[in-house]
Amino acid sequence: MASTKLTKGSIARYKTGDTQQSPIVKITNVRVCGESSTAASNDSERYRLSISDGQDTFDACVLSPDLNKLIKEKRLHDNSIVQLEKVVHNSTATGKSFLIIMDLIILPESSTTTTSNNNNNNKQANTNICPIAMITPYLNGIWKIRARCFAKSAIRPHPVCDFDFVDASGEIRLVAFRDECTRFHPMIEIDKIYDIMGVRVKTADKRWNTLHNDYELTLNSGSIVRLVNDPSVNTSIPDVHYDFIPLQDVSKHTSESYIDVIGIIDTCSDAIPFTSKTSGKDSKRRELTLIDEHTSMSVTLWDDQAEDFDEELAENKTVVAFRRIRVAIYNNKYGLSGSKNMIMKINPDLKEAKHLRIWYDAGGHSVHSQITTTTTPTRPALDASWKTIGQIENEELGRKGRPDYVMLKATCMHIADNRVIYMSCPNDGCSKKVNKLSSALYRCDKCQQDFNECHWTYMFRAELTDSTGAIWASFFGQPAEQLMGYVTAEQFADAKENADELLMQKYLNKNTFREKIFRLRINEETFNDITTVKISCISISDIDFSDYGHRLIANIQNGF
Ligand SMILES: [Zn+2]
Repeated sequence: MASTKLTKGSIARYKTGDTQQSPIVKITNVRVCGESSTAASNDSERYRLSISDGQDTFDACVLSPDLNKLIKEKRLHDNSIVQLEKVVHNSTATGKSFLIIMDLIILPESSTTTTSNNNNNNKQANTNICPIAMITPYLNGIWKIRARCFAKSAIRPHPVCDFDFVDASGEIRLVAFRDECTRFHPMIEIDKIYDIMGVRVKTADKRWNTLHNDYELTLNSGSIVRLVNDPSVNTSIPDVHYDFIPLQDVSKHTSESYIDVIGIIDTCSDAIPFTSKTSGKDSKRRELTLIDEHTSMSVTLWDDQAEDFDEELAENKTVVAFRRIRVAIYNNKYGLSGSKNMIMKINPDLKEAKHLRIWYDAGGHSVHSQITTTTTPTRPALDASWKTIGQIENEELGRKGRPDYVMLKATCMHIADNRVIYMSCPNDGCSKKVNKLSSALYRCDKCQQDFNECHWTYMFRAELTDSTGAIWASFFGQPAEQLMGYVTAEQFADAKENADELLMQKYLNKNTFREKIFRLRINEETFNDITTVKISCISISDIDFSDYGHRLIANIQNGF
């Protein structure tokens, strides 16, 4: 028991009548006291113990008969190290002090766990349990928490370590410094339930402690941490405390904040190796899609978390809860990112999980995919994808192997006036450029068809600017006609055929120098082995200044 320190001075304090302590002492001798009891029943047998606190020894200790079985079962014996939990101090008629030991904990040789041992303990254990959510520095009297350890730090220099505990009401951190760190770190195990008492309550420092609790607990030399080994208690205390945020509200949280979410794993990619740009280190990442009743959200896991992720979770559409997952913004889209202290629970035993399971199995997913695939919002979400031109360039949008969609408030400076229109295939869904044949027919190579008549269609590039820069974007079809002030491609073709430069310029300038909102698609296109970033306009709208104002206010509030 070299790792457990005896509580020096505790015997001296007992002698003065101080029983409000829970010292660790060594049993130096156990004997049956008095010959008078030999004929009596087992129940009335009395044992007398000698104890040592490493400084003093004391041999006038009587064990409460409730605890006799500890001796009969050979759990308590000479050289046992025990923590005295409840002791009554008394004096004989002649004025000699003696102690009656009412309750104790036998500390195991290995010191890795404590043992909760008898009926008396269990009765006492049910008193004064303070729900974690009720803990304040102003609690009076003797109280304890009964909670499950769900996270445990390594021992840091000084030394210090901490344990995160949860009960049905909430979560709280328990911090151990120096001797307590050495003593409790090997003893407290993740997922086990403990009664904890005699701890100090202080205000949590939110820089280090991100648990959902304003306070934290500190262990001291008189603190007691006792393992609770009762299956009926086990079911009443959750594994982890969650404050779930619906996926649709993730965007209400600032980037880099930590939240708890729950959803169904819909898809997952392979673990993708890459080399970190910042550290040059080889890493891995894996992309998941998490869905709930309202929306879907991408989740990126890194390194070990990416590698260890079980792909069957996506195949089986498993419910997974994430605690302390990080809010991230990639390509102007909100997403979630694995973090070091993240906890991922598969099929947690929670009502939220059951709810999702029922929703999904009742066909929720088909409804869901309809929602996500058929809504191309005419008015996109306020905070979804607004970008400046500077951001489009600096964030390398469109270069991540998939298109990015952004909203841009910008001014069209100029439409490139070479060509502007072309003759297109009239077939529905085709709009390929057709070639004029010598027969005066038009041929679409794609449809392998010849036509007598074809449409004029817009296709041009326009220069867009805002205060951060300028870009060229391609315009086709409806947005092109809109930018041309609803002059049709046919009308423009007439002016062009008549070589009416003035009219053409008039058409081209109908909307230049007017600020509009452009919805853009940005992606890489490879043609003849040359890859370029292509920006095309999907729609144009006038600025709704009330909407725009609200968005600015929201951005300010979100700390942009
Ligand atoms: Zn065609």
